[in-house]
Amino acid sequence: MAKVIINEELCKGCGLCVRACPKKIMELSKTKLNSKGYHPAEVTDMSKCIACASCARTCPDSVIEIYK
Ligand code: SF4
Ligand code: SF4
Repeated sequence: MAKVIINEELCKGCGLCVRACPKKIMELSKTKLNSKGYHPAEVTDMSKCIACASCARTCPDSVIEIYK
């Protein structure tokens, strides 16, 4: 199964990865805040991830790593 690692502390909550995901499984956390005050991105259902890396390529700050 694919694994998506999100470095929450580096995320600025821009939402670009949310729009980039073809499976609609990325969202900005409604509960977490990082130390900069942003809601970090998170994966809602890892079992639906196809490891396309669209989210990782889109992120301007290289916050996301994908493993297959
Ligand atoms: S790797 Fe692809 S399917 Fe998985 S979370 Fe990122 S954009 Fe979505
Ligand atoms: S694109 Fe990167 S910085 Fe923007 S919300 Fe997604 S992980 Fe965070």
